[in-house]
Formats: sequence, C-alpha cells, structure tokens
Amino acid sequence: MITGLPHRPCPLVLAAPSGTGKTTIAHALVDRFEHFVFSVSATTRPARPGEVDGRDYDFVTRERFRAMIEGDDLVEWAEVHGNLYGTPARNLQAAQARGEHVVLDIDVQGARQIRRRIPDAVLVFIFPPSAQALWTRLTARGTEELDEVRRRIRAGRQELEEAVHFDYIVVNEDLDRAVARVRAIVEAESHRPRRILDFEDELSRLRGEIDRVIRVEDTDDPPPE
Ligand code: 5GP
Repeated sequence: MITGLPHRPCPLVLAAPSGTGKTTIAHALVDRFEHFVFSVSATTRPARPGEVDGRDYDFVTRERFRAMIEGDDLVEWAEVHGNLYGTPARNLQAAQARGEHVVLDIDVQGARQIRRRIPDAVLVFIFPPSAQALWTRLTARGTEELDEVRRRIRAGRQELEEAVHFDYIVVNEDLDRAVARVRAIVEAESHRPRRILDFEDELSRLRGEIDRVIRVEDTDDPPPE
C-alpha cells in the first residue's frame, strides 16, 4: 500500500517590501516544521544589535564578497540599500542533499535570478496588510533613521511591481496565518508529479499491480493480498 510518495524538496523564495515580516515568517517555518532550513546569506551590511554572525547572516567584508562572486560561490547576489547580499550556492546543495526545503529570504532582484537559475524554485511574495503596518514595523525596530525608513518604504513600493511574476502571494496580516499559508503552499508543491522521486518506477509498479489484479479477476481466483 502507498501512504505517500517521496519527493524532492522545494527551494522556497520569500520576497517582500522591507518591514513586511518575511524574515519572521522564514524563521517561524524553520522553527515550527521539520525539513525546513534557513539559507544564511552573506552580506557586507554591518550587524544590527542582536544579530548573530552565522545565524542571521554571514557578515563579510566587500573584499570577501567580491571573492565569493569571482569564485562563483553565490547562486544570486544583489546590492540592496547600498549593501551587498548573496546566497551561497552551498546552502542549496546542502539542503538538497539532506532532503530539506531551503528558505531564501531575499530581495526581488535575487528572486529574479533564482527564477532563471533554478526554475524549480517556488517564489512567494509576501504582502503587508497596509502601508501603516510597514511604517509601524520599520519604526518599531528602532534601528533605522526616519529618512532610511522612508527610503525603504519607497523601495518597497517599487518592489510591489515584481509581485505579478511570483508563483504565490501571501498577506501577512497575522504571523500564524501567514506561516500556515506558506506551509500549505510547500505541501501542495511537494505533490507535483515532477517533484516525486522515481515517479516513472512508481507508475510502472502500480501498472503492474493493476494488470495482475485484472488477470486474477479474469480467472475468477481471489485477488492477491
Ligand atoms: P536587511 O538588511 O533588512 O536584513 O535586508 C535587506 C534586504 O536584503 C531584504 O529584502 C532581504 O530579504 C534582502 N536580502 C537578504 N539576504 C539576501 C540575499 O542573499 N540576496 C538578496 N538578493 N537579497 C537578500
């Protein structure tokens, strides 16, 4: 009896205007569910208070970042708000090898590159429930000057134009609901025929079983167990 088919994991891209809460969603997925792993990006941005090197980001110098680009170590990279950010290719390879869904918390430029290089990736765009929610979240962090907050919100307005190219849109009006929606998307994506491992073998096994049942029915013998 088949109870579930083993499948290839999905690289999951989360993009959103700054302050939408996508990083919180990404970490919640990893904390709450099995088989999700966070892709730790490399960045030249200085660490904010509370951020941990190697957990939130790999904080690197511009020289190191350039070396990573030249060494083809990054599967995508982009300049965001004056700093460089990139996804180490090994994050995706390691997740694939362990059968885990790797969650990429990246900007829309990075999402575009992932779409080109990994057509199989699932791209989810997170919407804020309102502009006021963005403003409240960005100012509550207390880490950015108001001019910087305005700049990020203006950039977010521009990023919205990319949403139409994503596979799914999820509104983050409530963290638990948004996390459940993203989880449901990954669950559904895992059931696509192209993600099922050894799909052809599975098909021919079932075909063989059906043929045997039909033959037995024809001879009026009881069907095999
Ligand atoms: P923050 O500085 O607020 O942590 O991140 C700024 C923006 O850079 C966010 O939209 C974040 O998702 C994005 N970002 C973080 N890591 C990466 C990455 O590896 N690649 C790209 N393209 N963007 C990233």
